[in-house]
Amino acid sequence: MKIVDFHIHSDNSFDGENSIEEMSRKGLEIGLSEICFTEHFSVDPRDISYGVLNYEKYFSETEKAKEKFKGKLKIKRGLEIGEPHLKEYRKDLEKQLEKMKIDFIIGSVHNINGMKLRKYMSNKRKYDVYYDYFNEVYEMIINSDIDIVGHMDLMKRYAYETLGNYTFEDYREIIEKILKAVISRGIGIEINGSGYENKVGEPYPNTDILKLYRELGGEIITIGSDSHCCENLAKHNLKILKLLKEIGFENVFTYNKRKKEVLSISDI
Ligand SMILES: [Zn+2]
Ligand SMILES: [Zn+2]
Repeated sequence: MKIVDFHIHSDNSFDGENSIEEMSRKGLEIGLSEICFTEHFSVDPRDISYGVLNYEKYFSETEKAKEKFKGKLKIKRGLEIGEPHLKEYRKDLEKQLEKMKIDFIIGSVHNINGMKLRKYMSNKRKYDVYYDYFNEVYEMIINSDIDIVGHMDLMKRYAYETLGNYTFEDYREIIEKILKAVISRGIGIEINGSGYENKVGEPYPNTDILKLYRELGGEIITIGSDSHCCENLAKHNLKILKLLKEIGFENVFTYNKRKKEVLSISDI
């Protein structure tokens, strides 16, 4: 079995519960072949993760774990960067990234106009709430240096209970624009299993988006549990792999020093 998990948070993230070593040991115990830590990182002072990541600590802990689990579990060091496209912070972000040795970058939209999504959606129409989220994702794709788009339809996590889930057809145009931009920029999307852990009950993004991505020729995809504790590590990854296979994906991708590596689904 070659199950990998390319979206996990340790206690180096503001909301992570377990240490790098604990998460790595759990990965080994459940038979994963590779994990990539993707700690929250932001240079926007309005973001909750601003100033939280201590890179030196993160570096030394990941290096120690790599040494400790050598030959048994591959461990990578990544980042999940919130809104990497914002013009006013881009220079600062570039400067900070130059100092880091990073294998993999997820670009994620967690805020719109510096506001958390839950706050942003209050008093707005359902259509606009989802549209604005997708639009922000598009802006991120065309204006930032990332490897993968994180949880592409995350808005449903916050809007689900009050406004309901969105209908794919209502947003087909902007979704297609997003996916075409992803493909032409040579980056990819992730399938994030954390949606199975809440009422949404489906991955981010949903199967309609995954199917369209495949139809448009999209191939680059990573798998992530978005777990913030050992318990959820790779929790739905096998189910997700089966889903990808059904949709027609042949490979999933891993990253090393920001270079993609292919993992054939049929070998898993
Ligand atoms: Zn995220
Ligand atoms: Zn995350």
